[in-house]
Amino acid sequence: MSTNFYITPEGKKLVTVIPGDGIGPEVVRAAQRIIAATGAPIAWEERFAGESVFKQGIASGVPQDTIESVSKTRVVLKGPLGTPIGYGEKSANVTLRKLFETYGNIRPVRELPGVQTPYSGRNIDLVVVRENVEDLYAGIEYMQTPGVAECLKLISRKGCEKIVRLAFEFARSEGRKKVHCATKANIMKFTEGMLKRTFEEIAPEYPEIEAQHIIVDNCCHQLVRRPEQFDVIVTTNMNGDIMSDLTSGLIGGLGFAPSANIGNEVAIFEAVHGSAPKYAGKDSINPTALIMSAVLMLRYLDEFQAAQQIENAVLVTMEQGIRTRDVAGDEGAVGTTQFTDAIIGNLGKRAKDWSVRDYKPLVLPQVSTAQDFVQAQERRTVGVDVFIESALPPETLGKSLVGIGEGTPLQFKQLANRGTKVFPSMGAITDSTDHFSARFMLTDATGNLSDDALLDLLARIGKQHRWMHIEKLQEFDGKPGYSKAQGED
Ligand code: NAP
Repeated sequence: MSTNFYITPEGKKLVTVIPGDGIGPEVVRAAQRIIAATGAPIAWEERFAGESVFKQGIASGVPQDTIESVSKTRVVLKGPLGTPIGYGEKSANVTLRKLFETYGNIRPVRELPGVQTPYSGRNIDLVVVRENVEDLYAGIEYMQTPGVAECLKLISRKGCEKIVRLAFEFARSEGRKKVHCATKANIMKFTEGMLKRTFEEIAPEYPEIEAQHIIVDNCCHQLVRRPEQFDVIVTTNMNGDIMSDLTSGLIGGLGFAPSANIGNEVAIFEAVHGSAPKYAGKDSINPTALIMSAVLMLRYLDEFQAAQQIENAVLVTMEQGIRTRDVAGDEGAVGTTQFTDAIIGNLGKRAKDWSVRDYKPLVLPQVSTAQDFVQAQERRTVGVDVFIESALPPETLGKSLVGIGEGTPLQFKQLANRGTKVFPSMGAITDSTDHFSARFMLTDATGNLSDDALLDLLARIGKQHRWMHIEKLQEFDGKPGYSKAQGED
C-alpha cells in the first residue's frame, strides 16, 4: 500500500479520474456519486485518455496533462478506453499500465445475490492476479518474411518475482488460504517456466498459504468444472487476460468484474469490461464492475469503512432484486442511474445472507529495482540460430548450408521450420513455410563464439540466402539458455 497519497488543502485524497469512452462516463459517474454519498474524503482531478485523445492526433492516446496528473496523485479511477483496431495506435490502456509500471492486475470475482448462473450456490469467490506489463502483451512484433509474423514473449525474473509476491501479499490482505500458479511451463520452459520456478522459490516465505502449480489449460478446465476450489490464481499476462474474462463469465458477466492495476508508485482502478459503445448514453448498463473497482481503490487509499459500506450496499441492492438489464433482461430491469440511486439508498445497511471479508491493508512487495536483477557468474556463446527466408525445399536449403561453416569455428547442425527440425530429415511430414532457422554450433565445446566469427558466418550466408534475424545461443552458469527444436537430439 502506498503512503504517498496527494492530500488537497481540504485534507482530501486526490484521485485522477478518467471518464473514458462509450459507457465509461456513465459507470465512472455512478462510482463517484456513491463515494461522495459515503462522505469518504476523496477529491477528483478529471483528465482524459482514449478515443477523444487519439482523435486529437496524439498517437499514444494519453496526453501529457493526464500523465502529469497521474504522476502527482498516483491513484486513478478509470473508465474503459476504446482501442482502435488495426494499424497505428497502441491501446491507451496498455500505454497507461506500462507508463506507470502497474505490474500487477488484480481481478476478483465473487458470486452475487440474485445473479443466476449455472454456478449459483457454489460460492465462487476467487481472484486472478495477472502480470500486467510483460509477455506477448508487450506487443513487440515483427514481420520476419512477407508471410511469417513474430511476437516476442519476454518474461523477466524480476517481473515474475513482483507478481508472485503481490499475489501472496494480496492473499494475505484478504485472509485467503490458497494460491495457484497457472502456467504453460511444460511447453515454454524458459518463459512460462520462469514464473513457475519463481513461484516455487517464493511460496515457502508464505507458509500459512497453500501453494500449488497448475498447467493453465487444466486450470481453465477446472475453473469450468469446479471453480469453487480456487482462491487466488497468479499467471502471466496473456493467460490472465483470457482466464479473467472466463472467471467474469462464471459469476454473471463483465458487468460484475472489477480490477486493480497495482505498481510500486501508481495504482489504476478500472472495470475489466470495455467501452461497450452500443450501450453508450443509454443509461442501461451495469455499473457494478466500476463501483467494485472503486471499492478496491478505497481500500488502497486506507478508506476501509467507506469500502465496506459500499460493498455491503451493493450486496443489499442485489438481494433486494434490483438489477440492470444484463442480469434481469428487459423485463424488470432498472437503469444505471436507478441502480446507483438504490445503492446510495442502501449505504449503511448490511446484507442478510452475504458477508463482506475482513480486509487488512495490502503490503506492497519490495523488490529490488536493479536492472541486472539476475547476474550470471559465467556465460558463453556456444552457437547461433540464423533465421533465413527461403522458398527452397528444406533438403536443398539444408545441403547448401552444410559446407558454409568450413574454415570457421562453427559447424552447421540442423535446419528447423517453425520450431520443427526439417534437415537432416527425420522422415516426418512437415508443411514448410519460407521461414527457416539454421543452427550453427561451435566445434570447440568449451569455446566462446566471437562477434567477428559470427559476422563472418552471416556474410557467408548472405552471399547465397536472405537472412533476416539471429539469436545467439548462450549458456549462463553452464546451463543452456536456448530451446531445442522438435526432433533435435
Ligand atoms: P466490451 O466493451 O467489454 O463489451 C462486450 C460486451 O460485454 C457488451 O456488448 C456487453 O454484452 C457486455 N458488457 C460489457 N460491459 C458491460 C456492462 N458494464 N454492463 C453490462 N454488460 C456489459 O468489449 P468489446 O466490445 O470487445 O470492446 C469495446 C471497446 O472497449 C474496444 O475498443 C476495446 O478495445 C475496448 N476495451 C477497453 C478495455 C479497458 O479500457 N480496460 C477493456 C476491454 C476492451 P452484451 O452485448 O451481451 O449485452
